[in-house]
Amino acid sequence: METVKTIAIDGPSASGKSTVSKGVAAELGFIYVDSGALYRGVTWNAIRQGVDTKNAAAVVDSMLNAEWEFFVKDGAATFSVGGDIPVQELREKDVREAVAGVAAMPGVRKFVVENLQALENFGSLVMEGRDIGTVVFPGSPYKFYLDADPEERAMRRYRELVEAGEDEKAHEVMESLKKRDQIDSTRKTDPLKVAEGAHVIDSTSMGIEEVIQTIIETVQGAA
Ligand code: C5P
Repeated sequence: METVKTIAIDGPSASGKSTVSKGVAAELGFIYVDSGALYRGVTWNAIRQGVDTKNAAAVVDSMLNAEWEFFVKDGAATFSVGGDIPVQELREKDVREAVAGVAAMPGVRKFVVENLQALENFGSLVMEGRDIGTVVFPGSPYKFYLDADPEERAMRRYRELVEAGEDEKAHEVMESLKKRDQIDSTRKTDPLKVAEGAHVIDSTSMGIEEVIQTIIETVQGAA
């Protein structure tokens, strides 16, 4: 296990990546990294500065002019932008609706990918995202692609939103999930796809703990 640096966990929205990645990181004592949070952070920072999130040059400008800091807190990599640490803000509707468009901008991806790669300086990582096995850490021997049926994913996301007190309709959640899947898997730069050599896990009818143990056994069996 000494040689393990980064476990890459990719997959579409609401595939269970976050819960699974946090569980694997906690069990192995690795640092958990939510790469989507950084795309959301770039989006949030642009919105709060009044930048049009469809204007790539303006978004990249606001991103490069902001001060970003990265650190580890409670076992997870996190960041501040302009001295603020957004958490709940990253989940708000305006960010959720604009983030896939912002994440399709090559200038944004370059910045985020470089910062994600630098996190290995903090230690061994469990990083979740869309392009971790294909672009950020293609050399990692521990790549996983987590999937689930769209209906099951929409249902999971719907339950999360209801729990968070958000008043969204089930069919709207399904539509927004489909739209994000479509943007993420068809964009020109680093689209969501299964990395070469990745272990594909379909979690439609699996429990979270079962998925976590499957990943840990694969990593330990290979190390
Ligand atoms: O994972 P999460 O849903 O928070 O990601 C938000 C958005 O960030 C995704 O819809 C996708 O557009 C983008 N993303 C990405 N590459 C990653 C992680 C997230 O393009 N590695």
